[in-house]
Amino acid sequence: IQPPESKQATTLQVAVRCRPLTAKERIKSRDILRVVDDKVVVVLDPDTSKDYLDRVQNRSKEKKYTYDVAFSSEAKNADVYNVTASSIVDGVVRGLNATIFAYGATGSGKTHTMAGTPEDPGLMVLSLQSIFTLISKQEAEYDFEVTCSYLEVYNEVIYDLLERSSGHLELREDPDQGITVAGLKRIKVSSAEKILELLTQGNNRRKTESTDANATSSRSHAVLEIIVKRTQRNQLRAQTLRGKLALVDLAGSERASETNNAGQKLRDGANINRSLLALANCINALGKQQKKGLAYVPYRNSKLTRLLKDGLSGNSRTVMVATVSCGADQYHHTTNTLKYADRAKEI
Ligand code: ADP
Ligand code: MG
Repeated sequence: IQPPESKQATTLQVAVRCRPLTAKERIKSRDILRVVDDKVVVVLDPDTSKDYLDRVQNRSKEKKYTYDVAFSSEAKNADVYNVTASSIVDGVVRGLNATIFAYGATGSGKTHTMAGTPEDPGLMVLSLQSIFTLISKQEAEYDFEVTCSYLEVYNEVIYDLLERSSGHLELREDPDQGITVAGLKRIKVSSAEKILELLTQGNNRRKTESTDANATSSRSHAVLEIIVKRTQRNQLRAQTLRGKLALVDLAGSERASETNNAGQKLRDGANINRSLLALANCINALGKQQKKGLAYVPYRNSKLTRLLKDGLSGNSRTVMVATVSCGADQYHHTTNTLKYADRAKEI
């Protein structure tokens, strides 16, 4: 006899975001992406020489993909936030778990989307800002505590990004708290102001390794975890609710086989793929669970999926922002990312 798991289904929203060409890129490359109706991404044939004749003869490699939402290169981080993350942050303050992750090739705009800049703060900053706005409206009734941690998974090893030189950290399974990372620094925050500075410092500590694909290819997954505890005021037996939001800046999705890797770097590539593959497998299994009621979800296959388990199971909500560059020279990576996002969408 199986419990009615379907009532506890995880929901997944898949968004695609195109990034503009930089001034330098515009000299060598051209924009091959078009966004239609806020949902459809059209990839033009990257081969300009074929543009006219092949289109007329319908031999163009032009492809169309449809998602829950698609953002053109004009979208700002606030636009992405309003449509994807803002409604789930509301749940986190009420004790629910959620995960937002950025998936895409190196240079496609993952870090820009998640951390952002002072002029255009990213989803990590905007989420914290709205958490504090929501809290300020409920402070008469509840006491709140907001804490953050920031870690990276590199080569299947966990490091603390809030510590200058962190050693290897281990995952622990705690009967009350679920999965925790032993020794991970967790800081209390009372406003969103300082967080971008902390994220920038943390990002500078991330392991980067030069590969043929990109000189500063980021080969680590960075996870910002925000925990909101809410306790009713003036109650004898006050109940505390605990909501958790994980914001994940995934490692570059380019395949190890596509860069001319060897030795250490090849192992990195293999492990990165293991985490990304494990994530894809979990998302697929969750989709089956949602449709058929029960399915085994293989969280244990990588550090990343073990870490994210709470935010990907039960009644959690998940947002995937797939980032792509609109340059013709990125056609191959862009197509791979759009296909990955397309498969995830089937949930
Ligand atoms: P990734 O983290 O996926 O490797 P980045 O976020 O570092 O990629 O982006 C690569 C470059 O493109 C950076 O210089 C970044 O500032 C720029 N960029 C990315 N997304 C956007 C965007 N939506 N608008 C403007 N510039 C962007
Ligand atoms: Mg990055």
